[in-house]
Amino acid sequence: MPTYTPPLRDMQFVMHEVLNVSADFQAIPKYAEADAETIDAVLEEAGKFASEVTFPLNMSGDEEGCTLNKETHEVTTPRGFKEAYHKYVEGGWPALSCDPAYGGQGLPLVVNQCFYEMLNSANQAWTMYPGLTHGAYAALSTHGTDEQKQTYLPKMTSGEWTGTMCLTEAHCGTDLGLMRTKAEPQADGSYLITGNKIFISAGEHDMTSNIIHLVLARLVDAPPGIKGVSLFIVPKFIVEKDGTLGARNAIHCGGLEHKMGIHGNATAQIVIDGARGYMVGQPNKGMQAMFVMMNAARLGVGNQSLGLTEVAYQNALAYAKDRIQMRSLSGVKAKDKPADPIIVHPDVRKMLLTAKAYAEGGRALAIYCAVLLDKAHYHPDEKVRKDSDEMLSLLTPIVKAFSTDNGHIATNACMQVFGGHGFIKEWGMEQFVRDNRINMIYEGTNTIQSLDLLGRKVLGNNGATLKKFGKLVGQLVEEEGVNEKMAEFINPIAMLGDQMTKFTTELGFKGFQNPDEVGAAAVDYLRVAGHLVHGYFWARMAQVALREIAAGNTDPFYQAKLQTARFYFAKLFPETATLMRTARSGSKVLMDTDLALA
Ligand SMILES: Cc1cc2nc3c(=O)[nH]c(=O)nc-3n(C[C@H](O)[C@H](O)[C@H](O)COP(=O)(O)OP(=O)(O)OC[C@H]3O[C@@H](n4cnc5c(N)ncnc54)[C@H](O)[C@@H]3O)c2cc1C
Repeated sequence: MPTYTPPLRDMQFVMHEVLNVSADFQAIPKYAEADAETIDAVLEEAGKFASEVTFPLNMSGDEEGCTLNKETHEVTTPRGFKEAYHKYVEGGWPALSCDPAYGGQGLPLVVNQCFYEMLNSANQAWTMYPGLTHGAYAALSTHGTDEQKQTYLPKMTSGEWTGTMCLTEAHCGTDLGLMRTKAEPQADGSYLITGNKIFISAGEHDMTSNIIHLVLARLVDAPPGIKGVSLFIVPKFIVEKDGTLGARNAIHCGGLEHKMGIHGNATAQIVIDGARGYMVGQPNKGMQAMFVMMNAARLGVGNQSLGLTEVAYQNALAYAKDRIQMRSLSGVKAKDKPADPIIVHPDVRKMLLTAKAYAEGGRALAIYCAVLLDKAHYHPDEKVRKDSDEMLSLLTPIVKAFSTDNGHIATNACMQVFGGHGFIKEWGMEQFVRDNRINMIYEGTNTIQSLDLLGRKVLGNNGATLKKFGKLVGQLVEEEGVNEKMAEFINPIAMLGDQMTKFTTELGFKGFQNPDEVGAAAVDYLRVAGHLVHGYFWARMAQVALREIAAGNTDPFYQAKLQTARFYFAKLFPETATLMRTARSGSKVLMDTDLALA
């Protein structure tokens, strides 16, 4: 059976020692009281919830899955899921970072970010039920009318109702412009929605009294394509004027998908058969409103893989210290045993350190993004709000794709540490690999994230935001450029920062002549950009560790951090050279292949 210990110390290190988040929060009036002590105290309890309440249900939920009653269309979640959800609600956990105007606790989003990392480590399938609600909450609080906010947000804040996102149809996944679900206006201002959605996460369940579906549909007279899509609230039960639940709406689960992982989460086929819906935002501008939810979900999906990377690492580490096989190449280490523990073997260490480096680098990036999100929403200075929003927009596809690809690499490496036992269910490792796999696909596949990064976020604004990130790298290089001890961390990012400018210009030029060049290079490009970002945070973490050691701090945490930083720059970061080379090899070798692919 796997185990899980919340990585509170590392979260505290990133928040308080590397990023000094409290200083940012002091500049935001609504967070003036969110000091380090408060944040740490909440996260300690949050860690207990994840490790004691939802983690024990992870394997049984995977084994049991969800069941659909075809007569009633009701879904039963695995044993214990509903009770765990009730504990989550009773503990006030849904409200952590929600607005006090709707009953929220008003804590910074970074608290929720760290809480959700732990929930994802503990049980990704369970976590998706409440997790999607946060995205739906964000979309409604940004684009909903006052009446919609008053009707739905307090119940989503308390956790009494959950939310979903209903975009995908059988013939339309990546290309939402192909959507067919239609919406007909009614005399009372509502709409009748008709269509079939598939793959809807948490689309039906037994945890709450109502489910608030956010559904994309097309008005009858809408222009074709993505510009004719509008967003609607379609509740499972109609909410009456006094807030009580009325009639059952004509939206139900027609089937559940049988899938590779996240078995405990109901992936529902949703039949919408003339259901009552209420428009959110403007007609034909549904994507604008839905993008608020999609961006939140993209960060959330990166966080799912971060959680799985951490828990896979913890278990592989414990196993590698315990499992004895063969002797160390450099001489016997465990003289009292018939063989040495496998952690003595260089390649086992490489697998462990790969997961550790991706978990800790990913955590620094995720926490940085959560602070950006708070600053983008609530900072009193308009320029800070705008800059934070732009930076977050650049980093979102990196969080989504780089963290989930790394999760794939890391969970597989950790499973490998277990040898054949990793392939056997009882150790739990194969579940981490299976559960992580969807993270690279949904919320826009990682290819689509790469196109978004290179095509829209970088080339689309002539590299302006990328240059701003480059400036952060430049500042660190300037600060530490003469510090010999930092050279091994600073030189690689300084060099890659310079190369990135030329690399980007070159791809932009080739892409201008032939857009397939962008498509051919984008995935490699995102991975290079991901390493620049991780490299920057690893250099900052090394900087703090060196400073503490120089000041006489003997906490082994700092030496461990330096060792991991060294591993990262020596063994993982250098793949950027190969990636730039493969990106530069161009589109011809892909597109002139009709015979090969005949
Ligand atoms: C378990 C699960 C849960 C899900 N949850 C939800 C949910 O809650 N709500 C929801 O609405 N949807 C959900 N989805 C749907 C998910 O978001 C889509 O599956 C995903 O966006 C991809 O769409 P698709 O499956 O139709 O693939 P397609 O769009 O058919 O893509 C197939 C392949 O072609 C590639 N491709 C497509 N277009 C391009 C292009 N322009 N350039 C390069 N490559 C391209 C893709 O990257 C992919 O590799 C879920 C899916 C699963 C499996």
